[in-house]
Amino acid sequence: MKKILIGTHNKGKFKEIAILIPKKYRKISPYSLKIKSPKETGKTFTSNSRLKVKFFSKHVNFPVISDDSGLCIQSLKNKPGIYSARLAKKHGSFLKAMKYILKKMEGKKNRKAIFVCSLSYKGYGGKIISTEGRLEGKISYKIVGKKGFGYDPIFIPIGKTITFGQMNKSKKIKMDHRFIAFQKLKKKIKIF
Ligand code: IMP
Repeated sequence: MKKILIGTHNKGKFKEIAILIPKKYRKISPYSLKIKSPKETGKTFTSNSRLKVKFFSKHVNFPVISDDSGLCIQSLKNKPGIYSARLAKKHGSFLKAMKYILKKMEGKKNRKAIFVCSLSYKGYGGKIISTEGRLEGKISYKIVGKKGFGYDPIFIPIGKTITFGQMNKSKKIKMDHRFIAFQKLKKKIKIF
């Protein structure tokens, strides 16, 4: 069976990426191979997803896919952006980070936000292919919903009235930023 390493320690992201990849691939996690994650020293989503794929590829001799993603809020100067995971770490949990964001946004009329995902893939050829997916939406006034992960309970995707936290996973994974980046990747590498 073909193998692919999904280069993330985030369980929510691992599951979402794994569902997108065909069944013929055995999806391996860095956790199962006791490989740690590299430091995210890049200044953009793409530079971070590329450094992750390069790092994980050094540990295995089969293809690797990695992502870097985050939430960019227009009225907060596009933050937390690439620091989305680190914001939650700083505050101790995603719940606390979401409360912090909602407090920061009190009184702000502009609630526009985008979820961004950069996917990078390195196959046997050795070349790294990267794509980016963006999904527009807005920040809710309250934390709503227990589904999904991360900032899902405060993000209402464009054209919907519920947060990702309220949406069934099967629906979310067919419209989110990761899905959009994956469709672009599929066109470029034509193996999935
Ligand atoms: P990183 O790519 O490992 O730096 O982590 C990105 C962070 O962005 C995650 O830990 C989540 O907090 C957030 N994030 C990325 N994608 C999603 C999503 O689909 N839903 C909710 N939060 C997300």
